[in-house]
Amino acid sequence: MSGPDEAPTPVAALRRIAFLLERARADTYKVKAFRAAAAAILPLSTDDVRRRADDGTLTELSGVGASTAKVITEAARGEVPRRLQETEAEHGRSLTAGGAGERLRSSLRGDLHSHSDWSDGGSPIEEMAFTAIELGHDYLVLTDHSPRLTVANGLSAARLERQLGVVDAVNEHLAGHGFTLLKGIEVDILDDGSLDQSDEMLAKLELRVASVHSKLKMDKDKMTTRMVNAVSATRMNVLGHCTGRLVTGNRGTRPGSQFDARKVFEACAEHDVAVEINSRPERRDPPTKLLELARDVGCLFSIDSDAHAPGQLDFLVLGCERAEAAGIEEERIVNTWPRERLLAWANR
Ligand SMILES: [Zn+2]
Ligand SMILES: [Zn+2]
Repeated sequence: MSGPDEAPTPVAALRRIAFLLERARADTYKVKAFRAAAAAILPLSTDDVRRRADDGTLTELSGVGASTAKVITEAARGEVPRRLQETEAEHGRSLTAGGAGERLRSSLRGDLHSHSDWSDGGSPIEEMAFTAIELGHDYLVLTDHSPRLTVANGLSAARLERQLGVVDAVNEHLAGHGFTLLKGIEVDILDDGSLDQSDEMLAKLELRVASVHSKLKMDKDKMTTRMVNAVSATRMNVLGHCTGRLVTGNRGTRPGSQFDARKVFEACAEHDVAVEINSRPERRDPPTKLLELARDVGCLFSIDSDAHAPGQLDFLVLGCERAEAAGIEEERIVNTWPRERLLAWANR
């Protein structure tokens, strides 16, 4: 990814603007124009793009509007587009202060929780994969939602089956980059703690995150049973955003659900399930007290972006900052492990 000073190609400029806006959690519709314009000119040769920039015919391309044409034109002339300079100035700085979390971030080899436009993400699978490669990941687990989460366009078994074929195809195209897109799911934890996908389907995946998305206000004892049951399920690998709280952001705030955290974390430790440190700024889940409890109970952890757009894959440093502050050893963070070790653990 180019820095703010060297002139990027038109596609790189558009993708960088989109990346920075996503990382700042801009609404998908604000970012869409840049992603669409990048996709529109990607098949064209450099000469074609330059000629259209000179002729003023870029906007004849479907997906290119006046403002994106301006970005393309400036980049095609070897300039750093003004819009890119502004976006870099506004959103380009590090997400944490004083380099906090950077050391641990450099030890992470991948990300276990991400969404594509197959469920409620904003970008196609391949764009998530390209960006993961650019961020230096060895692997990214694609974890779109499960059927019951209809508001998030959760995947039926049939759609998930189809998605697995797409993941294979993406990996074939990306062979040689030292990167693997892994097959996963963020499966809903149903009211009784069972998982919202068939065991047969879960068995076809390489890693499974399970999360509570409904009835967050369930009675404490029932919620404890629900979560312990889920954690005890076979094929369960990561307990996603365990309290479900929201601390900031345009979806408003809500308190976390109530459960006996010691019991749940002890079940995680017993069943070799990692407790997710969800890096999304509006989640910061688990809260610090629970994070420290999970540490003391001896749990494994995964630090995940829960990205719903490519730029959000960069959230990881925020989770790293919290893990560093809690003094969690790298060895216990499963996404510091090489892919083979991760997969052996997830499919034990
Ligand atoms: Zn979730
Ligand atoms: Zn998620």
